[in-house]
Amino acid sequence: MIEQKGILFILSGPSGVGKGTVRKALFDKDTALQYSISMTTRPMRSGEKEGVDYFYRSKEEFESMIEKNQLLEHAEYVGNYYGTPRHYVEDTLDQGKDVFLEIEVQGALQVKENFPEGVFIFLSPPSLDELKNRIISRGTETESLVMNRLKAAKDEIELMDAYDYVVVNDQVDHAVDKVQAIVKSEHCKRERVASQYKKLLEVSQS
Ligand code: 5GP
Repeated sequence: MIEQKGILFILSGPSGVGKGTVRKALFDKDTALQYSISMTTRPMRSGEKEGVDYFYRSKEEFESMIEKNQLLEHAEYVGNYYGTPRHYVEDTLDQGKDVFLEIEVQGALQVKENFPEGVFIFLSPPSLDELKNRIISRGTETESLVMNRLKAAKDEIELMDAYDYVVVNDQVDHAVDKVQAIVKSEHCKRERVASQYKKLLEVSQS
């Protein structure tokens, strides 16, 4: 039997862009991807469940996991820790299944360092286009407002540099379609397919 490792997909982007909404809508449709449930020290919100939305842990437990190198990445966000358990990701990829992470940008950059072969998808706010139009076309904004907007747009564009794909979240179902298209395309990449063929030929000759 020929083993093929799964692909690691990382959905990330600026705060408030709707990563969670897109991820949930994607998983309502797609069962082939395996969602990596994150660990957090933030309190459980009403309607959430342990082991479904997150693994909820104390600060001490979380810090002990960091020390033991049991997290693939972690970040502090609004006063709480968030992190990706390493074993689940590695074991699931080894079983040939695709893993999907939905994490904030600092964490995504860490994954990029440790897992450069991952597929990094930047979810971008629709306002980026609007922003561009406003900045370019109108002289009605005060200069400092325009400068602030330019700075925000520049920071956002710089963040994109580390990613392979950009999906604009103008409408959730459109964003989900695009993420699914990316998953399909990645499976058709020549490098991935060709290595399978080569292995197949090696096996058939032996
Ligand atoms: P919330 O508290 O609203 O569920 O999530 C806050 C932020 O943490 C979101 O941007 C979410 O994508 C991010 N997040 C969730 N899990 C992880 C994780 O395992 N690692 C990192 N770095 N960020 C995460």
